[in-house]
Amino acid sequence: VNNEEQAILDAYQWLVKLYHHLLRHSKDGKKALEYLYSRGFSDEAIDQFQIGYSPTSRDFIAQFLEKKGFHKQVMANAGLLTVGNDGNYFDRFQARVIFPIRNHLGKTIGFVGRTISDQEPKYLNSPESSLFKKSKLLYNFDLARSEIRKKGEVILFEGSADVIAAHQAGVTNGVASLGTSLTESHASLLRRYVDTVLLCYDGDNAGQNATYKAIQLLKKVGCTIKVAALPHNYDPDQFIQEYGSDKFRAQVIETADTEMVFLMKYLKKNFNLKLEGDRLQYVERVIGEIAQLESSIERDHYLRELAEEFNIAYDALSQELKSRMRNIK
Ligand code: ATP
Ligand code: MN
Ligand code: MN
Ligand code: MN
Repeated sequence: VNNEEQAILDAYQWLVKLYHHLLRHSKDGKKALEYLYSRGFSDEAIDQFQIGYSPTSRDFIAQFLEKKGFHKQVMANAGLLTVGNDGNYFDRFQARVIFPIRNHLGKTIGFVGRTISDQEPKYLNSPESSLFKKSKLLYNFDLARSEIRKKGEVILFEGSADVIAAHQAGVTNGVASLGTSLTESHASLLRRYVDTVLLCYDGDNAGQNATYKAIQLLKKVGCTIKVAALPHNYDPDQFIQEYGSDKFRAQVIETADTEMVFLMKYLKKNFNLKLEGDRLQYVERVIGEIAQLESSIERDHYLRELAEEFNIAYDALSQELKSRMRNIK
């Protein structure tokens, strides 16, 4: 780290403490604390994840950082301040719940700020910098790392709220990418620690599409993939709030689908299976996926399932599979 980066790390360290203090003890922070309680965040989690609150002020942080002797332009580069047209510096995060983003060494290098009213955008991140690279960072990786290694499995969530809710529910090997889709760097980082990645994205279409994309990336690095099936339009955080921790573990995490079961469910949505033509296209599409499976036992298993579901002769499917596999090689 150069001098500027060190100053940024120091500033972040100060602000983690300040924001947390303001959440806990300021009058302005009280509504943020109540907001967090209303969403089921526990005091313990609020402390452990160092959650904070950035006050309703144009320049509270700007003044604080100035008093501490930080260079305002450097703080603006770090995404803590913004510069107005008049050349004055303002707080980037105003009236938001603050989730500190730590790197793998546990040092805070960015913030995610969530509005507690209906300010747009809902989530505001620190901007990209030499220290804060979203394509390489995973939220909570530093805290979850030992559990990830121990279990040989990591759970990928969409948002920091999901990671924290899962943690409170006793599922502590969860991480999240920060408002971006999973990247090749994320995938290869995770591959160094685990065989298995359990995808637990939101149950809406966006979440399912992101799951499909993540599978393609994770397959490339050789991960075994599982997919948690959430009810449509629930995200993990909402599920836990409504159904509780036990059901989350038993009905979502422990009974996750295999990659192929997810793919079959996912691909089905693109076809109208009442039509014969669509049915055949779907079957061909699934055979293409089965052909990519490493294990002959798995290939046989899904082929039989397909034969049964669509009342097609197993031998016919098997022949098709063989010709597909020749094409792959
Ligand atoms: P909440 O439960 O607080 O409403 P969420 O985590 O369920 O939020 P989603 O809308 O599912 O939010 O989005 C998933 C993730 O994508 C968020 O956690 C955040 O990191 C990112 N994100 C969402 N909306 C925005 C936005 N407007 N700008 C930047 N990132 C965003
Ligand atoms: Mn979502
Ligand atoms: Mn969500
Ligand atoms: Mn949510």
